[in-house]
Amino acid sequence: MVILDDWFGCATVCGAVQAEAKQLAHTRDLERRRAEEAYNARVDKKECPRCHVPQSYAEVHSKTKKCERCNLFYRPKKSWVSLLFVFAVPPVADG
Ligand SMILES: [Zn+2]
Repeated sequence: MVILDDWFGCATVCGAVQAEAKQLAHTRDLERRRAEEAYNARVDKKECPRCHVPQSYAEVHSKTKKCERCNLFYRPKKSWVSLLFVFAVPPVADG
């Protein structure tokens, strides 16, 4: 019955390893989702200057810096602070 015992032992170990891997994948998934939620809650996300779609978490993660529809680089949203700055400083006349 040595063979059966061995088989049982292996099945138990393999099962434990699988459960561990499953748990690890679950933990990673949770962490990724939490990071994504934290990112989505941010107000300083970059956005496309044309269609104003914010840069997604997946795009940040894959270091995609351009809007795939407009092929334009994402830019930081104008905050009211930078708007104040724009109004406070008179534009330099061209030419
Ligand atoms: Zn766009």
